Amino acid sequence: MTGRRQLTLIDDAKMDQLGVAAFASLKKEAELNKDPAANEYVVCVTAAILQVIPRDHGPKDGRWEVLVFEDPTPNAFALPGGKIGVHTGMLEVATTPSQLAAVLGHEVAHVLLRHGNERMSQSILADTALNTASVAAGVAAPQYQDLILGGLGVGAQFGVLLPFSRKHENEADEVGQIFMAQAGFYPAEAVTLWQSMARTEGQGPAQWQSTHPADETRIARLQANLPKAMREYEAARAAGRDPRCEPPPDEWVNPEALP
Ligand SMILES: [Zn+2]
Repeated sequence: MTGRRQLTLIDDAKMDQLGVAAFASLKKEAELNKDPAANEYVVCVTAAILQVIPRDHGPKDGRWEVLVFEDPTPNAFALPGGKIGVHTGMLEVATTPSQLAAVLGHEVAHVLLRHGNERMSQSILADTALNTASVAAGVAAPQYQDLILGGLGVGAQFGVLLPFSRKHENEADEVGQIFMAQAGFYPAEAVTLWQSMARTEGQGPAQWQSTHPADETRIARLQANLPKAMREYEAARAAGRDPRCEPPPDEWVNPEALP
């Protein structure tokens, strides 16, 4: 999708397995949000994004799963194998459907661009104790768990954190903004989202914020990409793509979860 050459030592089926396994352990550790309005809303925005992504890059069976986690930190992630998680705290920062679409477009872009595979492959090469062939074959072995979770970007829950590189972030921003526009979400809201992110930064530990700095460079790049994204948006609207996802009413917020 970017035309860039990538080092990917792990095959896609193995990456999918790793993503599915990491998601299963997250499900066990974390608390799921049971509010129907919040879940319907997140599913609605996710489904609109998934409708426009290239079919040949996602999970083999084309099926994705999205869950809302009861967690006040503004975090969201997508894993190979078609697994997506959104924290309730993200709904406090991404306050409109288009802003949530910007977050999800970005996260799904990381997966489709094989960024996790590239990061793991780079870690493998950097670790001289590992032999690339044996790792590619046995990467699911317990001793590689930290590397895998870090490479997938969900390590913080388990005490490992490997931020995506600036290059990966730029690619996911650019491709993600196009995805949201193609789905019929207003792409200028990606800029608004990152401006809100910048305002809430430093209010406590949050994985997404520490790995996704909302700096001026990022915001300027999203603004520069906007004319291209707007053309996609106009085309999507002309084609009748107008996702109507209803954000949950304020009452769904659990007052005890607020600071
Ligand atoms: Zn990212």
